[in-house]
Amino acid sequence: MQESLIIPENHPRAESLRVRERLVECLRKGIVVEQGLIAHGRGEAFDYLLGERTTVYAREAIRASVAIMLLAEHPVVSVNGNVACLCAGDVVRLASLLNARIEVNLFYRSYEREKAIEMLLKEHGAHTVYGVGDRASMSIPELMSERRRVDRDGIYSADVVLVPLEDGDRTEALVRMGKKVIAVDLNPLSRTARSATITIVDNITRAMPLMVETARELKNAARDRLNGIVKSFSNARNLEGSLAMIRSGVADRGRGGDDITLDSRGKQVVGVMDDDG
Ligand code: ATP
Ligand code: MG
Repeated sequence: MQESLIIPENHPRAESLRVRERLVECLRKGIVVEQGLIAHGRGEAFDYLLGERTTVYAREAIRASVAIMLLAEHPVVSVNGNVACLCAGDVVRLASLLNARIEVNLFYRSYEREKAIEMLLKEHGAHTVYGVGDRASMSIPELMSERRRVDRDGIYSADVVLVPLEDGDRTEALVRMGKKVIAVDLNPLSRTARSATITIVDNITRAMPLMVETARELKNAARDRLNGIVKSFSNARNLEGSLAMIRSGVADRGRGGDDITLDSRGKQVVGVMDDDG
């Protein structure tokens, strides 16, 4: 049995290290697969470049995502191993606020892992969990192997699907099926980020609690107001904004800048801006 790492509070990467520990623990419990750890590493690299904070662009994308889900007829939140491990409680809270169904959807499918994730979600208060075992009897067209299996009453018939940490192929296939797809992906250059209807470029560990908070705020908003939020959102523009943040952040830190602060267009500003943008 491997020992857990003791992480000093003042370590500059403390939160990032805690998340790693949690993923390793989930690997031992059969919720996360090895490939999930590697995928997380790619995410961490982009998070580092973003300064490990939620940008104004991510906040804007979160607002549009919650609005589009509140307007949906049949919204579904798709859950894989990493998502279950990192934010099972927030998934359940968000789905409940948005009247969305929760579906387990794994890239590397096994019945044991589906059941483990279902159990974890139920421990956090989920009632029905879709996509487990024989429930996932429908196929996403044009996708090969086990990755294509979805639940008839879940993703298959959904009009809006939230896919935190999805693969590009599946995102594209879901969009081709006519669904509105919301991705959470720290890499603004990935195929997932580029093909989703709305991409939240943020760490799911920060984005999901913010989505819950935003859902509470907008839950009773008029449809006109929600429509307005969705209409004024452009994914291409939003992704450009996130990329600009990365570019100028890297340039500034490369010049030896410390604790840089960027304005909403990714330009450095003097003085401290609070984290709420
Ligand atoms: P794509 O298939 O979309 O072209 P990819 O093949 O580069 O992307 P995948 O391995 O399919 O990437 O999926 C991992 C993605 O998930 C990466 O883009 C990574 O940035 C993102 N990711 C990993 N962990 C997190 C996290 N905690 N929060 C947000 N995004 C994350
Ligand atoms: Mg991929």
